[in-house]
Amino acid sequence: MNLHEYQSKSRFAGYGIPVPQGKVATTPDEAYAIAQELGGTVVIKSQVLVGGRGKAGGVKLAKSADEARARAEEILGMSIKGHIVHKVLVDPASSIAHEIYLGITNDRAAAQPVLMASSEGGVEIEEVNRTNPKAIIREHIDPLMGLFSYQIVKVALGIDLPRDQWRAFSKIVQGLYQCFVENDAALAEINPLVITADGKLIALDGKMSIDDSALARHPDLAAMRDTESEPEAETQAREAGISYVKLNGQIGCMVNGAGLAMTTMDMTKLYGEEYGIGPANFLDIGGGAKAEQVSAALRIILSDPNVKAVLFNIFGGITRGDEVARGIIEAYDEVKPSVPMIIRLQGTNAEEGRAILDSADIPNLRTAATLTEAAQKAVEAAKGAM
Ligand code: GDP
Ligand code: MN
Repeated sequence: MNLHEYQSKSRFAGYGIPVPQGKVATTPDEAYAIAQELGGTVVIKSQVLVGGRGKAGGVKLAKSADEARARAEEILGMSIKGHIVHKVLVDPASSIAHEIYLGITNDRAAAQPVLMASSEGGVEIEEVNRTNPKAIIREHIDPLMGLFSYQIVKVALGIDLPRDQWRAFSKIVQGLYQCFVENDAALAEINPLVITADGKLIALDGKMSIDDSALARHPDLAAMRDTESEPEAETQAREAGISYVKLNGQIGCMVNGAGLAMTTMDMTKLYGEEYGIGPANFLDIGGGAKAEQVSAALRIILSDPNVKAVLFNIFGGITRGDEVARGIIEAYDEVKPSVPMIIRLQGTNAEEGRAILDSADIPNLRTAATLTEAAQKAVEAAKGAM
C-alpha cells in the first residue's frame, strides 16, 4: 500500500526528520485559508499515488493566498497519469540550493535493505539509474546489526555532502531507517531532500510503501488507505481476497498461486514478445477458489480495455478442477465476455473439470493440455484481435 506524500511526511516527522509544516486542502478556499495562515510563498502539491507530479504540472508555487486559491483550483480535479487529484498539500515554500535523493528499499537479491543516495535528487531515480548509475551510492544494511554510523559517513562522502551538513544528514538517515523498519515499509524515500539557501536540510517530498502483508499489525497505517485514489480494480480485488496487479499487455491471466502466476506471465511474454504481446496483469485467485471468486476475478480482468484474450492456468491442489470449471461457467454466464478464453486445467479433478467445460459448450472457450499450448493459443487469439 502506498501512502500519500502528506502521510509519508507526517510519519517522517515522527522520526525527527525535518519536513515543511503544511496542511491538506480539498477545496480552493481551504487552500486559501492555509496559505493565509502560513503567510509568504507556498507550494501547492497534488496528492496522488503516482510519481512525476512536478513534470505533469501538479506542483506549483503561489506567492499569495489568492494565488494559492487559483493554483489549487487548477490542480484539484486534474488527472495525472490517470489519477484524479482530490487533495492538495499546501506547504510553506523552501528556497532550494541543492536537491538530494535519499531512499531505503529491500534488495531481494541481497536479502537486505539497501540505503540509496544521490546528489542528483529531484528527478526520478530510475532516470538517474539509466543515465548515470554511478551517481547512486548504495549501502546494504544488515537487518540484525542495523545501520552503522560509518555507513552514513560513506554515503555522505559518496554524494559530496558538505561537511557542515553531516550531523543533520546522519539524524535524517537514522530516522528514515527506523521509520522504514518500524512501519514494515517496502520503500521509504525522500526525493528531494533539499539543502536550503540558508543551509538547512529538509524533506520536501516523501513516499512510503507499506508491505500489505504487514498491515494487520499496523491498524493506524491501514486506516490511511485512500480507496478514492487507488485504481478501482485494485480495491475490488482486495475486497474479494484476490492479488491483482495491472500491467500493460493484452492477455488477462487468471491463475491460482503466485508462483504459477509469475510463470504464466513469463510464458505469455516468451511467445508474445515478438508481436508486442504480453501479460495484462498478475492475478492470483488463491487456494480453494470458489465460483464467486472466479467471477470476481474475471470481472476485474475484463475491466481493463486492453485485454484481448484471457488465459486460465489452474493447477488443482486444494483447489478442485470441477469447482473451478463450475466457477468459470458461472462467471461466463454472469460476465458474458466476448474475448477468447483459453483454459489449462491440471491436478485434482482436472478431468471432471474439463468434461464440465466441454459439455457447457461455450463458444469462445478453448482448452489446452499444457501451459505451452495455452500460452501459444492465447498469443494467437490476442494477435487475431489486434
Ligand atoms: P514529484 O515530481 O511528484 O516527485 O514531486 P516533488 O514533491 O518532488 O516536487 C517536484 C519538484 O518541485 C521538486 O524537485 C522541486 O524542484 C520543486 N519543489 C517542490 N517543493 C518546492 C518548494 O517548496 N520550493 C521550490 N522552489 N521548489 C519546490
Ligand atoms: Mn519527488
